Amino acid sequence: MTPIALAPHVDGAELGGEALPPIGDLSLAGLRDLSVEMGHPAYRGDQVAAWLYRSTVRSFADMGNLPMALRQALAARFRIDAMAVEAEAVSADGETRKVALRLPDGDLVETVLMRYPVRDDGTGAERATVCVSTQVGCPVKCAFCATGLMGFTRNLSTGEIVGQALHFLRWSREVPPVVRNVVFMGMGEPLMNYDATMGAVALLVEGAGLGVHRLTVSTSGWLPGMERLAADPFPVRLAVSLHAPVDDLRSTLVPLNRRFPLPVLLDACWDYQARTGRRVTFEYVLLDGVNDTPALARELVRILRNHDVHVNLIPMNPVSSLPFGASRPEAVEAFHGVLRVAGMICTVRREMGRDIRAACGQLRTEVRERARAAVAVAP
Ligand code: SF4
Repeated sequence: MTPIALAPHVDGAELGGEALPPIGDLSLAGLRDLSVEMGHPAYRGDQVAAWLYRSTVRSFADMGNLPMALRQALAARFRIDAMAVEAEAVSADGETRKVALRLPDGDLVETVLMRYPVRDDGTGAERATVCVSTQVGCPVKCAFCATGLMGFTRNLSTGEIVGQALHFLRWSREVPPVVRNVVFMGMGEPLMNYDATMGAVALLVEGAGLGVHRLTVSTSGWLPGMERLAADPFPVRLAVSLHAPVDDLRSTLVPLNRRFPLPVLLDACWDYQARTGRRVTFEYVLLDGVNDTPALARELVRILRNHDVHVNLIPMNPVSSLPFGASRPEAVEAFHGVLRVAGMICTVRREMGRDIRAACGQLRTEVRERARAAVAVAP
């Protein structure tokens, strides 16, 4: 196991007043209103947004073109860093970095940076993607997920979600490639925290200037959120965590399937596609001997055939406390082969960060267990 750097505030962040709300909780319009409320022209709000999301400064004092009185008034009411880094883990190849971020109420969430180099054959481009959390814990309780084991604590605010992306956006400006993609795929079910998630989407697009087509919201199949997303002014990419092509098995792996079984889930996907014109991605975590047989691959082809979809096969990052293992490479290849022969657009996600327990929830669990152990041995 790769040792995890455990150090409070390892990036030097201080929350600067535990009681102050993160300024990232305000929309761009909210920043303009705030500026007026503080006795300044509305355009000052746009300047604040530029400092926060384009320059990614960490102090109001650094907002050089703002009047000093406004900088001081902002610092008295808000903080910029929504969270402080509690622990950080870096994969042996340096391409995956995971941080456990401490919230003001003491809980932890995880954020992961994945850097993809140019492929060995010279194709593709260097790129960096941040995977952000949207909830503390998760109410969906998928059977193979470390976060699902924790249960649900609370929703994150917009500022707490966008703050995760900004953490690595800032870092990647020093160590390119610069982050251009954000996936809402970490701890939690983003569509059960719809307003805060889409508030973060708006700030990343309109504030930080990321392309909306580079943002992906992943759902385990929360239909009320999918219906709202189909009508949302920000047409993000939709990824659906499928994990099984038959109801019995999917209900075992993703309990939400009992409420929204496959036929209604797929109808919602096709409705999203018809209304947005966007391809839907289906995520499929391959679990050894559970959902990785050729017969299930053929069933997957059958239910997705005739639609514009991308299937992303994900080798599982094993979680020691759960009875699931990663599929054997032959099984992955056979499953992939069935989909390829059927003409489906299908990729096998590169295994990233297994040595730092990159599956969501694992770093948070480890940090908490270490903290408990430290308390237990304290004199
Ligand atoms: S896989 Fe996603 S939706 Fe399922 S329990 Fe884990 S975080 Fe929640």
